[in-house]
Amino acid sequence: MKPTLLTIDAVRSAVQEQTTTSAALVESFYARIQKEDGQIGAYLTLCKERALEQAERMDRMATEGKLLPPLGGVPLAIKDVMCTRGVRTTAGSKILGNFIPPYDCTAVARVEAAGAVVLGKLNCDEFAMGSSTENSAFHPVRNPRDTSRVPGGSSGGSAAAVAADMAVVTLGSDTGGSIRQPASFCGVVGLMPTYGRVSRYGLIAFASSLDHIGPLAKNVKDAATVLRTIAGRDPMDSTSAEVPVPDYVAELEKPVRGLKIGVAKEYFGEGLDNEVRKAVEDAIQKLAQLDCEVVPVSLPHTEYAIPTYYIVATAEASANLARFDGVRYGYRAKNARTLSEMYRRSRHEGFGAEVKRRIMLGTYALSTGYYDAYYLKAQKVRTLLTQDFEKAFKKVDAIVTPTCPTAAFKLGEKVNDPLAMYLADIYTVTADLAGIPGISIPCGETRDKLPIGLQILGKHFDEATPLRLAYSYEQAAKN
Ligand code: GLN
Repeated sequence: MKPTLLTIDAVRSAVQEQTTTSAALVESFYARIQKEDGQIGAYLTLCKERALEQAERMDRMATEGKLLPPLGGVPLAIKDVMCTRGVRTTAGSKILGNFIPPYDCTAVARVEAAGAVVLGKLNCDEFAMGSSTENSAFHPVRNPRDTSRVPGGSSGGSAAAVAADMAVVTLGSDTGGSIRQPASFCGVVGLMPTYGRVSRYGLIAFASSLDHIGPLAKNVKDAATVLRTIAGRDPMDSTSAEVPVPDYVAELEKPVRGLKIGVAKEYFGEGLDNEVRKAVEDAIQKLAQLDCEVVPVSLPHTEYAIPTYYIVATAEASANLARFDGVRYGYRAKNARTLSEMYRRSRHEGFGAEVKRRIMLGTYALSTGYYDAYYLKAQKVRTLLTQDFEKAFKKVDAIVTPTCPTAAFKLGEKVNDPLAMYLADIYTVTADLAGIPGISIPCGETRDKLPIGLQILGKHFDEATPLRLAYSYEQAAKN
């Protein structure tokens, strides 16, 4: 079995029926990574021993005639912001360059319990801050569809690994778009669940009220299968919700006829590339042909989403990143003479420029005298943005938008212009701020053959409807 174009079902049934072994498949994935990843840079760490142990466990189950679990034998990889016991976890930062966690992130533990084989850890922007993966302290990731371009970020490694067939599925994290935007740039499926749907235990925190874990996959069904295994209450995360988890895979088959899909003019304004606009409008047409009803909606506070996001996210980041002080774990500056010099130099030498910029912005927004003007104001606008969605969802079942204003940009194009980079998230940050789920699926390409993403947003705890629409669209687009 070749590693290319494999889906979860294809791998699991081949391992179950013993037409291949999971161990052989894992070896062929490592061979492919060896060959291809020098160009792409998706992986930071491989964990072959752990992978082969799990693969052999799955192969034994198959030879004993036992039914494999839902991800049985499936090669999967993890964004390096999720802790893996005994396997280096860096968050893309030098400050955690030698950090070996003593425990597993719940999402990782759950995919492994469901039979997945973890191949390794994937490159990302430092502490998930960025939209291009150029902020990785180690090396950038290149877009497999055009290596002169970025894969998006911050889960650039997670998207590129799927697009380049260096994993069947991956886990990423989304704080302001970091699953959906790279999925869109690399031409894969990326799903951000509702806030609280998936435990954040063991996810290295960026902005705790915005962080989400979710899958990146080659198709909608694989994304649904992974979400089903990682979703649900976890006693280790008090913000994980006690809401029953539907069978997302079974939900895919339900018809979409009669569903109302909202289209908000605020997502089709200035700055939207013409080719992207055309592809997304065609996709909406296609959904209409599937007998969905297209309904105009308004999300009037959208223009405030980027400033709101960058105040809330940086404020929370400045608090979360205070723990990296050179004392408990991670990088410590050498030869400091005093404690405060040790703190200062460890942080100065350990953090990259973007992370420092955000700590400073966030500390400023939270400081006495400015708290009301910035942080409190941002929280109020966040409520207004959430209410925009709540009002719209009284009229519609889902909202369809472009995932990003443009297709993948060139490496180096925006890296020295943080504001231009921040604008790449204009259509994705709103869902994080409101806590609603969203999926990005491929819906065409530009003249230069760069993938374009369609975003489908849903109501709180209703991932099933966006998944179902995405699945129907994907099936229809095949024909
Ligand atoms: N690009 C956004 C940022 O830089 C989002 C990152 C994310 O979702 N982790 O903050």
